[in-house]
Amino acid sequence: MTSAITVRDLRKSFGQNEVLKGVSVDAREGEVISIIGASGSGKSTLLRCIPMLEVPDAGEVAIGGETIRMRSRRGHPEPADIHQVNRIRSSLGFVFQSFNLWAHMTVLQNVIEAPVHVQKRPRGECIAEAEAILEKVGMAEKRDAYPAHLSGGQQQRAAIARALAMRPRALLFDEPTSALDPELVGEVLRVIRGLAEEGRTMLIVTHEMAFAADVSTRTIFLHAGRIEEEGPPAQVFINPRTDRCRAFVTRHLNR
Ligand code: ADP
Ligand code: MG
Repeated sequence: MTSAITVRDLRKSFGQNEVLKGVSVDAREGEVISIIGASGSGKSTLLRCIPMLEVPDAGEVAIGGETIRMRSRRGHPEPADIHQVNRIRSSLGFVFQSFNLWAHMTVLQNVIEAPVHVQKRPRGECIAEAEAILEKVGMAEKRDAYPAHLSGGQQQRAAIARALAMRPRALLFDEPTSALDPELVGEVLRVIRGLAEEGRTMLIVTHEMAFAADVSTRTIFLHAGRIEEEGPPAQVFINPRTDRCRAFVTRHLNR
């Protein structure tokens, strides 16, 4: 099957702190990969290197088989072609812990903003598609509301709608429910589960172990910048090979 996201031997340091020590991931079309690991293990950095929000020190990133071209500038790598990076970036949807919707725009305006102004698609078409997406995430009746008048769960579902409106090839989630009150987590996980069932390609960093075990085709356990364990969730969560992974999932499953 075609590779949607390929990361090869990614390395990244912040000063003396080597955060990624050679990480490789190959997400094929339709795969849902959950990424788990302790705080500081490099999960966010790994996710942020994919669209070059962080520039890796070494290694390679390819999206849909297209490798992001790099060059060296005064000994530091940087993307060789910013247009290529922007194009590839807009083919990926991101959902972060903080919802970062534009506060001065309604839900619908948030959702159509990039399709209209970045992708330059016809406004009418974008609105029709946005309405269908809002229906799907259960936000149709909130289309004209401003973010300040929404719950955290509603804001996050609007943020997911905004990512979907770009018709992304893959979706990257970084702890999408960590900032939510516990009673609002379920409604967001339900939406993400629906996307998994649609066969969307997704990388999901999460501490929701039961959810990860349930929706992923594969799970990666990161420890100190390395993939310490990787496999089907049945292996990683129920029968891990390493003691560290076992201790981690036991601690989190029983919370
Ligand atoms: P995780 O998401 O698994 O909690 P991160 O990838 O956010 O881990 O961070 C891994 C390590 O890198 C941490 O020690 C963090 O402090 C450090 N780090 C992350 N981003 C930066 C940055 N922009 N500048 C300096 N250090 C950073
Ligand atoms: Mg993080």
